[in-house]
Amino acid sequence: MKELLFLNPVLKECIWGGTRLSQFGYRLPSDRTGECWGISAHRNGDCTVTSGTYAGISLSELFRSHRELFGGIGGESFPLLIKLIDAKSDLSVQVHPDDEYARIHENGALGKAECWYILDCDEDATIVLGHRAKDRKEAEEMIRQGRFSDFIREIPIRKGDFLMIEPGVIHAIKGGTMLLETQENSDITYRLYDYGRLMNGLPRKLHIEESLAVMKCPCLPDKPDFQTERIGRSEIRHFVSDSHFSVSLYKTDGELSVPNRNPFIAVTVLDGSGTLDNTPVKKGDHFLIPAGYGDFVLSGQTELMMSTVPKEPTVANP
Ligand code: ZN
Repeated sequence: MKELLFLNPVLKECIWGGTRLSQFGYRLPSDRTGECWGISAHRNGDCTVTSGTYAGISLSELFRSHRELFGGIGGESFPLLIKLIDAKSDLSVQVHPDDEYARIHENGALGKAECWYILDCDEDATIVLGHRAKDRKEAEEMIRQGRFSDFIREIPIRKGDFLMIEPGVIHAIKGGTMLLETQENSDITYRLYDYGRLMNGLPRKLHIEESLAVMKCPCLPDKPDFQTERIGRSEIRHFVSDSHFSVSLYKTDGELSVPNRNPFIAVTVLDGSGTLDNTPVKKGDHFLIPAGYGDFVLSGQTELMMSTVPKEPTVANP
């Protein structure tokens, strides 16, 4: 189909949110807006198509009833969830299970891999990625004794960094950071530590045993290496391509031809404005390039995050 499917993003109020997502042209629900679910078929924020042949239809319904738009890939639900996140204060420290653990312990659900592209952050910003225990025994001791500041590993980040968070890797976004998150469409999060904070006078529920069961030990992941391809004045950063998803950043300056045989491409416009073939695109837009659209030409000065999945993604409940 030769039609782009633009989506209405779903904005979320969060205790740790701020106001910076307004720079994407969104009307914020409050001054604590933490998340924009730009491409989501999740029941907690199911995006609808803005216009065209499928106007008003939710992404979950489109995936159910028009699988041909997604190259006929398997799975019960649309495989990706793409969010813009504005963290004014720290998010809780958490970990996600892998597919195997989730299948057994979470009713056949999928585990979760996710990745982050840093859009903006304070000058001395850090992020929690991994931990400092040398093995599982030491990790368990540190957690049971509440020695979280020793346990948690923080690394410095800068605008433009890319971070991969495999299942089993402890992680947290810290205050002052704005990022784009691409993740598997899964719900399952184990909260390990919440900085002793209270919400409505009570601490939020922690999942210590589950976290201990799924966390990698030792766990000192680096920022991944990636390839940068230069074509004319444009640039493509191929951040990751694995069994969960492929994620690349396209920085265009002028025209750029993009070959495309993917089952679909999920696109978020992070900056600038231009066109995809003859369709105008601008900062803050989220859309899908459906199966069969074929090759396309980008033009203008834009920054677009594009993601897709392998043709045979992991299927829940095999
Ligand atoms: Zn996470």
